[in-house]
Amino acid sequence: GILNFCANNYLGLSSHPEVIRAAVEALEKFGAGLSSVRFICGTQSIHKDLEEKIARFHQREDAILYASCFDANAGIFEALLTPEDAVLSDELNHASIIDGIRLCKANKYRYKHMDMQDLEAKLQDAQKHRLRLVATDGAFSMDGDIAPLREICQLAEKYNALVFIDECHATGFLGPNGRGTDELLGVMDKVTIINSTLGKALGGAAGGYTTGPKPLIDLLRQRSRPYLFSNSLPPAVVGCASKALDLLMESNAIAQSMAAKTQRFRSKMTAAGFTISGKDHPICPVMLGDARLASVMAEDMLNRGIYVIGFSYPVVPKGKARIRVQISAVHSDEDIDRCVEAFTEVGRKHGALP
Ligand code: PLP
Repeated sequence: GILNFCANNYLGLSSHPEVIRAAVEALEKFGAGLSSVRFICGTQSIHKDLEEKIARFHQREDAILYASCFDANAGIFEALLTPEDAVLSDELNHASIIDGIRLCKANKYRYKHMDMQDLEAKLQDAQKHRLRLVATDGAFSMDGDIAPLREICQLAEKYNALVFIDECHATGFLGPNGRGTDELLGVMDKVTIINSTLGKALGGAAGGYTTGPKPLIDLLRQRSRPYLFSNSLPPAVVGCASKALDLLMESNAIAQSMAAKTQRFRSKMTAAGFTISGKDHPICPVMLGDARLASVMAEDMLNRGIYVIGFSYPVVPKGKARIRVQISAVHSDEDIDRCVEAFTEVGRKHGALP
């Protein structure tokens, strides 16, 4: 009887009967696992089919699978960039991007969060390098804000840079067909490289990928260490993701249903007196400031049948504690209203609302 409002299961596909059936069928037909990395005996037809499907979904030339998006981020920068190159990274990028950048020998620039003036200044400074790569989350998971990709791509064009986006919190549901932030902001042809996960909207099991130009994907197959030295994805996991992509490519109805639900939650919570960070994204951080308040309110929400979690330092900056609510396509309007009502009661009880 508890409603989950803190999962990355944006489209509800992790419990979709067809997704589950596809996993069972793949398990029965292709086995529990490959006991191998991809290039030895760890590649089956389903792995190649899924890579082809991912590339088609994002309208890119090719794709490569990893055990996770953490691995995709860990593997790309080192394989692509040399000490002659530069990478320019948003200061609030996900930990896995930060770690991936740490592993490479390129010159590192960190620009202020979504600050285009600062990015431009850093791009000017980075003109002395051979190649420039701007790296950003498409949507930032702690704040629910969306990178200004149009402006980033304009700057990248002006200063001859490539653009990389991490679409873990966008793939499947942002944009008219759920293709992601690049579709939402009309720059699908301007973003060079996309990394994303199969562990959130696309069935929620596990796995990650890079999609982009074929020569880049060929390079990653030769050089990317998490790809070369880690087991290939288990067939059941491949089956889930593959079916999730089929469902999304057959119809954009599920992806489209998200926007109205997100809007319903955001506007009702704002009307109730809460501050919700970010904009137009199903990650809706209810800003509370105080860490203890966030934690006791989350506990009290659970007593009212709503599962949410308080986030505080060091996951978010000091004084910016929050409860991060995530809306899913499987939440009904009534579920969302129940969540808002519970927040209102609990907020009043603990003094977060007058
Ligand atoms: N990038 C971002 C922005 C994420 O939020 C996450 C997951 O939390 C990852 C990468 C890692 O994804 P995965 O769980 O597939 O390793």
